[in-house]
Amino acid sequence: MNELFAKGRTILRQLAAHGYKGYFVGGCVRDYHMGRVINDVDITTDALPEDIERIFIHTIDIGKVHGTIIVLVEDIPFEVTTFRTESDYSDFRRPDVVTFTRDLDSDLERRDFTMNAMAMDGDFDIIDPYDGMMAINRKVITTVGESTERFGEDALRILRAARFSSQLEFKVDDDTKRAMLKHAENLKYVAVERSVAELVKLYRGANPSAAKVLMAETHLIKYLPFLDQVDEAAFLKSNVHSLECELALQIYQTPKLKETLHELKLSNAVKTEILSIVNLLKMVDSSSIRHLAYDFDDRVLNITKDTIVKNSFLQIGNRMTRLESAIAMKPKLPISDPSEINLDGRTLMRLFEAQGGRWIRTILSAVEREILAGQLDNDRDKIIEWVKAHVEFEAGNIKIAEK
Ligand code: ATP
Ligand code: MG
Repeated sequence: MNELFAKGRTILRQLAAHGYKGYFVGGCVRDYHMGRVINDVDITTDALPEDIERIFIHTIDIGKVHGTIIVLVEDIPFEVTTFRTESDYSDFRRPDVVTFTRDLDSDLERRDFTMNAMAMDGDFDIIDPYDGMMAINRKVITTVGESTERFGEDALRILRAARFSSQLEFKVDDDTKRAMLKHAENLKYVAVERSVAELVKLYRGANPSAAKVLMAETHLIKYLPFLDQVDEAAFLKSNVHSLECELALQIYQTPKLKETLHELKLSNAVKTEILSIVNLLKMVDSSSIRHLAYDFDDRVLNITKDTIVKNSFLQIGNRMTRLESAIAMKPKLPISDPSEINLDGRTLMRLFEAQGGRWIRTILSAVEREILAGQLDNDRDKIIEWVKAHVEFEAGNIKIAEK
């Protein structure tokens, strides 16, 4: 038995021992029946948060008002949530009122799609009042209850439908699709972090291209930050498997989109990687192989190479061989970044008996260029010798002799 289910079962047993009901619920039940990898197992119960905290020794309160307590079993966290119903979604995202209930069916009824509205007991018997199994067998995504109403309550569900269509390679049923289009506009009320989290999963899924067609058909892209500025044909043309690559390709094709990137509130590391891919695409034809190898990290070189392989419109000139050569050259470079140069500013200040300033950077850049070109060894004494022979420094003015 899957280890997560085995550990989760001990929670169900303990709940039962105290007279409460407990079930596995949501994505883990869906994935179990599809034979997919289970990443996390959620539990639903009629025990109230206070009861859960009383019954289990290791708990973390992560949202008691919404009914969720984490129970740790041998350091593995399980979200245990009290059966609840939700009503009055005035901001299209968060329910205004959470009402706890004693009834499993009403807890399942509030869930987004029928495939996600199944529960399973400790004997792996399934409780499926909304025909989730049938939806899984037919590979369709369909809302629990009336689609228009469900998307009206919470617009994030619209994007979740697109995300699941990529991850599971399911089709969205016609009614649900019509309702996606009808409520797409409300996506603008969804917190950008939540939309981005869904987009990340969508692009990592099995079939992002199919999900992108769906996103265009249902007008989702018109109401998502950044994507609302992207040309639809360019969006449908790219063949990518990560959000970063999508954004990089769109910025590469339409440079002014760079100014819109901040709207997605991505981390600095992610933004840097995206812009690095854009730069590499711009420089791949003109820079020397040596400089491509030195200026870009392995990850960016490889991602860009894969992206070019998957997108024929990027296959210009000998880009592929240039990138392959750069990747092969990278481990052979004499230095991999400026910090590896065996000379520092202090040594230069002593050498020229001068105060620090921009001139130090100028000399170090010249040294870096020579080392990289293979014309100077990265050896402290040799570098000093080279500097003495090539640099003239007088009254704050610096001149570097060509040879
Ligand atoms: P995964 O964990 O692979 O992303 P999941 O189906 O487990 O997929 P979660 O976001 O972890 O998705 O949510 C767990 C469950 O909570 C879902 O299966 C669904 O039953 C319910 N759920 C999550 N988000 C919503 C929502 N916006 N509206 C209604 N129900 C939801
Ligand atoms: Mg989950």
